[in-house]
Amino acid sequence: MVTLSKNMKGMVELKRIRKILVAFFTVILLFTSNFYGKAESGVDVVMWCFHGYHTFNDHVLIGGVGDYGANKQYYWIHTAQMDNYLEERVRTAIYNWIYTTSNPPYVTTPISFRETTSQAVSVADFYQVDIPDDDVFAYTNLYFGGEIKNPINYNWAWAFIGLDYFNIYNYYGVNNRGFQGVAAHEFGHAMGLCHTYDVTSVMCMIGDGRQVSTPSAKDCYAINHLYA
Ligand SMILES: [Zn+2]
Ligand SMILES: [Zn+2]
Repeated sequence: MVTLSKNMKGMVELKRIRKILVAFFTVILLFTSNFYGKAESGVDVVMWCFHGYHTFNDHVLIGGVGDYGANKQYYWIHTAQMDNYLEERVRTAIYNWIYTTSNPPYVTTPISFRETTSQAVSVADFYQVDIPDDDVFAYTNLYFGGEIKNPINYNWAWAFIGLDYFNIYNYYGVNNRGFQGVAAHEFGHAMGLCHTYDVTSVMCMIGDGRQVSTPSAKDCYAINHLYA
């Protein structure tokens, strides 16, 4: 009886250790498989400017973000090539950046963008892309003078935003918030916001636990810090 109970104790102990090991490796797997953002090139960074905002050392989109409608800025969507559903989500994402005075988070910013069919006047171009790494949903490259610039060191005049429909779809399913969140996040980069670990900020990476798909008050304050 004593031996048996010892054996049983040992069994229980082994099971516990196995459970702990499984849990441990599950956590590691979750962590590594959620580490997105590698393809975001120069914008793949969490940092704060000297004033405490999540910006790239206060570098900006040349020409600003629209000046409260006094000067409009334009974005362009490669509609010929982009999935219609994704197109609509891009438009909603930008709408959510513009109309923040009477909608949450009730913070006025100078952002005033309009869609254009003339790519020449656009400062933010949206493309549907195919990113080989399924864990990466999108990326933004910031350009000046025909070259990709690291926004930590330079201002930029144009943003190329690539969205991977299928990578987003495979993660979220047909979920407006998923597509809008990714588009809103990339548009935030185009305007000069970098990553943050604040899960209530649209500039938090999915892998870091972002819970929102629209700009937060802090995101709007950071825009005001750069352009207001
Ligand atoms: Zn600053
Ligand atoms: Zn990002």
